[in-house]
Amino acid sequence: MSKGIVYLVGSGPGDPALITLRGVECLRKAQVVVYDYLANEQLLNHAPPSAERIYAGKIGGRHNQGQDQINELLVEKGCAGKVVVRLKGGDPFVFGRGGEECEALRAAGVPFEIVPGVTAAIGAAAYAGIPLTHRDYTASVTLVTGQEGKEKDDSSIDWNRLSQGNGTIVFYMGVKTLRQNMERLLAHGRTPRTPVALVRWGTTPEQQVLIGTLVDIADRAEQSGFKAPAITIVGEVVALREKLHWFDGRPLFGKKLMVTRAADQAGEFATMLADRGATVLECPTIRIIEPEEWGPLDAALQNLSGYDWLVMTSGNAVRAFFQRLETLGLDARSLGTCRVCALGPKTAEAIRGFGIRPDMLAANYKAEGVVAEFAKLDITGKRVLYPRADLAREAIPHELACLGAQVDSPVAYRTILPDSLPPEAVFALEKRTVDCITFTSSSTVQNLAKMLGDDCMLDMLKGVAVASIGPVTSKTCRALGLKVDIEPTEYTLNALTDAVEAFLRN
Ligand code: SAH
Repeated sequence: MSKGIVYLVGSGPGDPALITLRGVECLRKAQVVVYDYLANEQLLNHAPPSAERIYAGKIGGRHNQGQDQINELLVEKGCAGKVVVRLKGGDPFVFGRGGEECEALRAAGVPFEIVPGVTAAIGAAAYAGIPLTHRDYTASVTLVTGQEGKEKDDSSIDWNRLSQGNGTIVFYMGVKTLRQNMERLLAHGRTPRTPVALVRWGTTPEQQVLIGTLVDIADRAEQSGFKAPAITIVGEVVALREKLHWFDGRPLFGKKLMVTRAADQAGEFATMLADRGATVLECPTIRIIEPEEWGPLDAALQNLSGYDWLVMTSGNAVRAFFQRLETLGLDARSLGTCRVCALGPKTAEAIRGFGIRPDMLAANYKAEGVVAEFAKLDITGKRVLYPRADLAREAIPHELACLGAQVDSPVAYRTILPDSLPPEAVFALEKRTVDCITFTSSSTVQNLAKMLGDDCMLDMLKGVAVASIGPVTSKTCRALGLKVDIEPTEYTLNALTDAVEAFLRN
């Protein structure tokens, strides 16, 4: 049998976006993934579902599997012709025992490749706002294992050289031995007031930073119960954090937010929240599917130029409309002189994405906004097409008809319950780790209640801040017994994000 190949891939320090493109490429074709405790498990999603996933974690020095066993496993899988990814925290060759694994593979004649990763020192320092070198402070940085501190006498570290000058030092695996290591630096002449930072779970939403000096950091760590995994950064550059911190200073850092929108539209909102530092859990309570019958929409699409106005009130309607137009072999030219009204800037943007500039923008984000705009015109006898969701409120067709228009409102898409909720979202609610849940339409709340059961939902949302996009959604929340904590004055995702931030900051 031909030999497989083993890719030693650095997963980066924790943030799953910090893996390299090459690393993702390797994961995508993996048949076996052997991963560590420090490699973010989310990265396993890049591997095909069929790939065998083997945990070779080592927790706090308690080796689940000895290094020899890991080497044997890699050799065995490689010899069996498999494409293997050995996914390691940080970089494989920085305190990663990647060298030993490669030696074993070479000895067995198994081909391998090394894919570097962002090592913990580089990643955690960046996310803590500590430049490891800086022209005004230091021109060198040393990466050191903190574990040597245990065996005082046969240390292979030249403590004398390490302590001289002003070079930045980063200890890995040095939480338990923090006191000894700091004492050794002091004993070898490092200035006592040298600033020191401990960075735990750097680059992740759990990142914690503790600042002190060579003299007091060990006491501080003890008092606050600071635990591994963490790096220790020693050097004047640590003082720069005060000016340069960014990651853990973002307004929603450390907050867990739940987004209940449909999977295909959650992304944008999730990104807005994540950009402010929140950990976002997607829990789609809606699925968007085709209408039960196409007849009414198709009839309207075949005769688009017969309409005076096309009214669209959501991105979903826009996408459904243009997709169906394409399926029918038509395109935007069928609109002819028909004018287009968009409800809200996001809908307008979606319409522009299909090459059409909306003629009217209703800026009040409720259906009434559309009606108010049309009330300014004379639409007596005008023909209006309003492609809508099956559950849409009747306000628009009804009110426009009252203004004298002839309105067709075919169903362009349906919103239904998804088959199930993501287990990690339910788990987070059960564990009460969610700070805030966001509802961006009435159906998001109603569906959550249907899927969890009314009482169960109320119980699970105890202590969770409820954010609703506007009065209609809020009314639905209240009808189900929920107290609404957050409601922006403008009904947009931007305004909702601002309102969530303002609330959670207090
Ligand atoms: N190969 C890895 C290091 C493995 S040794 C790398 O290049 O990063 C394990 C040590 O790395 C931990 O004890 C801790 O000191 C450090 N470490 C790994 N991930 C970390 C993180 N997210 N934040 C802080 N330290 C981390």
